[in-house]
Amino acid sequence: MDDLFDVIICGAGVHGLSTAKYLAEKQKKVLLVEQFPIPHSRGSSHGHSRIIRFSYPTSQHSQLMGESFRSWLKLEEDSGTKLFENCGLLNIGGDRFLTKVSSGLRSLGLEGQGLSASEINAKFPGLKTQKYDGVFEKTAGLLMADKCILALKDSALKLAVVIKECEKVNDIVPVNVSRVEVHTNNGKYRSKSVILTCGPWINKVLKPLNLKLPVSPLLIRVVYWKAKDPELYNAENFPSVIIDDKVHIYSTPILEYPGLMKICYHSGTEIDPDQRDKKLPNKDQTTADTQWETLVTAIKKYYPNIEPVPAVEERCIYSVTPDMDYILDRHPVYPNIIIGAGFSGHGFKCSPEIGRILGDMAIGNPMAYALGSFSLSRFNSSNL
Ligand SMILES: Cc1cc2nc3c(=O)[nH]c(=O)nc-3n(C[C@H](O)[C@H](O)[C@H](O)COP(=O)(O)OP(=O)(O)OC[C@H]3O[C@@H](n4cnc5c(N)ncnc54)[C@H](O)[C@@H]3O)c2cc1C
Repeated sequence: MDDLFDVIICGAGVHGLSTAKYLAEKQKKVLLVEQFPIPHSRGSSHGHSRIIRFSYPTSQHSQLMGESFRSWLKLEEDSGTKLFENCGLLNIGGDRFLTKVSSGLRSLGLEGQGLSASEINAKFPGLKTQKYDGVFEKTAGLLMADKCILALKDSALKLAVVIKECEKVNDIVPVNVSRVEVHTNNGKYRSKSVILTCGPWINKVLKPLNLKLPVSPLLIRVVYWKAKDPELYNAENFPSVIIDDKVHIYSTPILEYPGLMKICYHSGTEIDPDQRDKKLPNKDQTTADTQWETLVTAIKKYYPNIEPVPAVEERCIYSVTPDMDYILDRHPVYPNIIIGAGFSGHGFKCSPEIGRILGDMAIGNPMAYALGSFSLSRFNSSNL
């Protein structure tokens, strides 16, 4: 236990990596510990693509997006790897949803293109909407998630972040307000502060620190469907789509597997992240079956040229809070233990600014944002 790190980060998904990069750019001595190889496909950050957009229905997320977008484009330039595909995003839903999306855009000085149902059907023949209109954001697109993870790892290594892969954090021992010890299966390390970006494992890591967050790990089925006419759904002429029709369905255009389009249900069933591939108990399987039927029904309703039979299925995990919003805060008892959790299926795109927020908390820098809506205190304390 010779070295004293400024910050030890536990968990190298997109948020741990972004935080490590941010702190190393601030000349801090950083150790990043990850239980699996980087990248891996057991958590939340793997897969080919993630939607990136300014058109958030909530203003606090829109605010995070300005700088985050710039940081992703800078990483693309620095890494020499194409990380962003500018296919646009079409939001479809009721007036309340679309008004929120438009005002999120306006708060950033951007204007969405309002489209009636018949205009949508004419502009995108691969889609069919009757009841709902839409707002199209042409600045939006897709981040190539796996490539982003590799680019972040590479950048962190170049900035002298010490990365320990395949090393599991077993215990976090708070010593005092400026010292924490981290014990892994392979050694003991010390730092002035610790950041926990453990994704769906967050409550396992927090348990010995007597904290339980209202964060549920949900198994998400990532499903690709065969297009009858692939030309209609190519990323050059078809956008990502978010449909807010009682439930939330989203799709990304054909980009990853030839002829196949990703269309998913934005929720899942609760699981233990260490048992992700285990057969679900009967009651959870019933929930999963109902969600599946909802997804297939939505595909038949909105995507007339997609065969409603799954062609490829992959798995991923959401970490969901009761209000579907992030937790960015300090441990209530140990202020030099910082938590970034509960990204609720929409955290990837904001990761550069999340890294900045978590990093600034750890080194005592002033906060660039008002963080009330991300604080732990918004939950009833009996939940914690
Ligand atoms: C199917 C799917 C689609 C999504 N779509 C979008 C989208 O379109 N747009 C968007 O913005 N977001 C999207 N998201 C959400 C986004 O991907 C997540 O919010 C983000 O990846 C969460 O990253 P993380 O770093 O918090 O978690 P993770 O990626 O899970 O990383 C946590 C890491 O901590 C490690 N760890 C845990 N415990 C320990 C331990 N004890 N010791 C060492 N290491 C440990 C884990 O192994 C893991 O690598 C999607 C997520 C999924 C699953």
